[in-house]
Amino acid sequence: MDSEQQIFCGNCNQKLQILSEPCESCGSVKKNIVLELVDKFEFELKDCLDGKVINPSLRSKDKMREKFTFGASQSANGDWAEKTRIINRDKDYYFEEVKNSKGEIIHHSEEKLSDHKGHGTDKFNNPTSH
Ligand SMILES: [Zn+2]
Repeated sequence: MDSEQQIFCGNCNQKLQILSEPCESCGSVKKNIVLELVDKFEFELKDCLDGKVINPSLRSKDKMREKFTFGASQSANGDWAEKTRIINRDKDYYFEEVKNSKGEIIHHSEEKLSDHKGHGTDKFNNPTSH
């Protein structure tokens, strides 16, 4: 899977080149990331796409404001599942959806990020737990 990433200012919609720099025209650090997927490999290549939105003005531990994952993984019965996960710390939002190869939703979770604690393996969800 090939992808093209475009970054736009979340405030004035100016197209930006560098994710970690504030907007040249208005100075905002809000970003919208548009990912254009080019499926020239069709569906043979199962790949995982990760992205994040960073606010460079915050301390390193708080910099990451949003994280998203689109990926495919093989389940126990051999079927491929497509997984989408979005974590947004600014909006206190957690979204996770898993579809099987027929496009049927087999897992759906949408909740407040602050309610989504204690799953253990996801360090990103527990910035204040220690
Ligand atoms: Zn701007």
